[in-house]
Amino acid sequence: MSEDQLRTNIDWEKKWQQGRSRWDYGQPSPALVTLLQTEEARVLIPASGLGLVPGCGHGYDVEFFASEKRHMRGLEISQTCVDLLNQKYPNAKEENFDFICADFFDFEVPEQKYNLVYDYTFLCAMEPYLRPQWAKRMNEIIAKDGVLITLMYPVNGQEEEGGPPPFPLSEEIYHDLLADNFELMYINDAIGHAERFGMEKIAIWKKK
Ligand code: SAH
Repeated sequence: MSEDQLRTNIDWEKKWQQGRSRWDYGQPSPALVTLLQTEEARVLIPASGLGLVPGCGHGYDVEFFASEKRHMRGLEISQTCVDLLNQKYPNAKEENFDFICADFFDFEVPEQKYNLVYDYTFLCAMEPYLRPQWAKRMNEIIAKDGVLITLMYPVNGQEEEGGPPPFPLSEEIYHDLLADNFELMYINDAIGHAERFGMEKIAIWKKK
């Protein structure tokens, strides 16, 4: 595989410069909020340590997960996006979160690694040839017993109008990518955005 194929061919910076972020819902993912209200799921999620949201977009989920005990980092490949985030969240540092502009595939990982990574519309945002690299990277950056939360979308096999991205996914694809290094602890239909009903599932995977 050539070096080029380890990188996305989608010009995210251009999309952000053009303000083409049709995926802004103005709030943390409702399915994530519901998940944390579900006792059975909540107990599986480490309450402290380091968390990461790769491809964090508008940053709501980064802010949502940050707490006194858990530092959250939002990672974005687009500098325009990171500039917007830094303007939007001037108090981020005090609230224990921050944003960095870097590529998921080669950003600097802290020695202790992450206890929590949240993926929503990130795997589906990359070309299918990058999926094995995504899985390899998740395995590298998550600490033992840490968790990866995947809000799986779109898992109905349909392409969206104007897409891809998002590149359609399926539950089986996630299993194939993650089963070697992660144990599936929880999976359910996601109760999230109404227009995505039946297209989303939410899962918690624990690093072996
Ligand atoms: N998760 C957000 C945004 C999804 S769109 C939400 O649900 O609203 C996908 C985002 O991933 C885009 O903002 C894009 O700039 C970012 N992205 C794509 N490839 C990336 C990479 N390799 N590293 C970091 N960010 C990336």
